[in-house]
Amino acid sequence: MKKNTIKSIKGFKDILPDEIKYYKYFEDISSKVSEQFSIDELRTPIIEKSELFNRSIGDATDIVTKEMYDFVDKNGDSICLRPEGTASVVRSAIEHSLIYDRGLKKQKYWYYGPMFRHEKPQKGRYRQFSQFGVECYGFSDTNSDLELLIIGNSLLKGLNIDNVTLHINSLGDIDDKKDYEKKIFDHISSHVSRLDKYQAETLAKNPLRLLDSKSDNVKELLLNIPTLYDSLSNKSKSRFDMLLRKLDDLEISYLIDNSIVRGLDYYNDTVFEWRHQSLGSQNAICAGGRYDLLVNMMGGDAVPAIGFAMGVERIIELLKLNDDLKIQKNISIPIINTSLEKETYVHLISKNLRTTFGKINFFNTDSSASLTSQLKHAMKVNDTFVIIITDENIKNKSLTIKTSENQMSDMVVKWDELITYMRKKYE
Ligand code: ATP
Ligand code: MG
Repeated sequence: MKKNTIKSIKGFKDILPDEIKYYKYFEDISSKVSEQFSIDELRTPIIEKSELFNRSIGDATDIVTKEMYDFVDKNGDSICLRPEGTASVVRSAIEHSLIYDRGLKKQKYWYYGPMFRHEKPQKGRYRQFSQFGVECYGFSDTNSDLELLIIGNSLLKGLNIDNVTLHINSLGDIDDKKDYEKKIFDHISSHVSRLDKYQAETLAKNPLRLLDSKSDNVKELLLNIPTLYDSLSNKSKSRFDMLLRKLDDLEISYLIDNSIVRGLDYYNDTVFEWRHQSLGSQNAICAGGRYDLLVNMMGGDAVPAIGFAMGVERIIELLKLNDDLKIQKNISIPIINTSLEKETYVHLISKNLRTTFGKINFFNTDSSASLTSQLKHAMKVNDTFVIIITDENIKNKSLTIKTSENQMSDMVVKWDELITYMRKKYE
C-alpha cells in the first residue's frame, strides 16, 4: 500500500463480501423471528438531538459522559450519532402516537442498524457497531418479561447459537434502586482513598455501576455488601420470584447474577444479559431490561416497557465459529457468449434465466475477451456448470452447457430442456 493512501477511521470497519453473508443470514433470521412474534419494524434516523440521550440514558453514564459522538451542526444545534436504539424508539413512538397506555393492544417494535460509541476499539468492541433490538410496550406484568426473554431465546436458537447463559437480576422499583445505591455508598464511602478518580466519581454519581466493575479493588470493597436481591422490597422480590418460577416452568435456564445492573439510568426491576463463553472478555451478546418510567419521562403516557439490544458483530463472530451453520452461498452460473453478432440474444437468455430462477445468480462473462479467458473466468466461479451461447445456438434456439456430470464436455440443449435440467438440479 502506498504511503499516502487514506484508511478507515479507528474503530470503524469495512464489512467485506466474505462477512456480508453472515450479516445477511442474521438479518434474514431476525426478521423472520420478529414476524413470528408479530413485532413491527421501526427505522429511526442515525442522528438525533443530543438532549434525547442526555435525558433518557442519564448524564452520569459512560455513554453520555465519555462515549457519545456529539457535535454542533451548522445551525448551532447540539446533535449526535445515536449510541443506542431504545431512546430513539421511544422518541419516535411518542412522536407518532405508536404507544398507548390503554393496555388493550400490546405494541412491539424491532429495529436494526448502526450505533456509535467512542470507546476503546478492541475485539468485539467498535466505534460503529450494529444492534438488533426489540422493545415491548403496554404491559408491566411478568408475562411481558417472559415473552421478551422467549423472543431473545428464539432468536438465538434460530441463529443456531448454543451455549449461551442468561444472567438475570432485579433492580427493584425506583425506591429499591435508591435504597441500594445508598447502601453501596455507605458501605464504600469511608474507603474512597482506595478508589481511583474515575471509580470515586462513579460512587458519587452512579454507585450501582460499581457492582459490575471488573477491578479487584472495587470487588474487594463490595465483598460483604448485602445482595441486591436481599435488599429488594417484598413487592419487588415477589415479582422477581414469580418471573423465575415461570422461567423454571418453561425450562428456560438462567443464572441469578447480582452484578448485572446495566449502565443506563432508565432500568427498573428485571435486567438481564445473555453471555457466550467463546467471546473472551467482550462476552455479552444481548442485554436489556424493563424501563417502566422512561416513556412518561420522555413526554409520553405512563406506558410500561421492556426491551433488549443484541450486539450483531459479536453474534457474527459466533456464527463464524459454527461449522454446522449452512449459510447458503448464492449459486453463480456463468454465461459465456461466443457470438459477437447477436450479443442482445445473450442478454435475453440471461434475463429469462434470472426471472425463472430468482435465487441463482447468472452472470455474463466479458464477451470482448477470448473464449479461453472467458472459460477460465467462468470455471473459477463455478467449475460444475457453465452455459455457452454460440452462433449455432442462436440459429436453432438452443444453448450449450458444460456440466460436471458430463465431465464438462459440451452438450447442446433446447431452452425447455435447460429449464427441466436446472429444476432437477437446483430446486
Ligand atoms: P458492554 O458492557 O460490553 O460495554 P453495554 O452494556 O455497553 O455492553 P448495551 O448498551 O447493553 O451494551 O448494548 C447491547 C449489546 O450491544 C451488548 O451486549 C453488546 O453485545 C453490544 N455492544 C455494545 N457496545 C458495543 C461496541 N462498542 N461494539 C460492539 N458491540 C457492542
Ligand atoms: Mg459499554
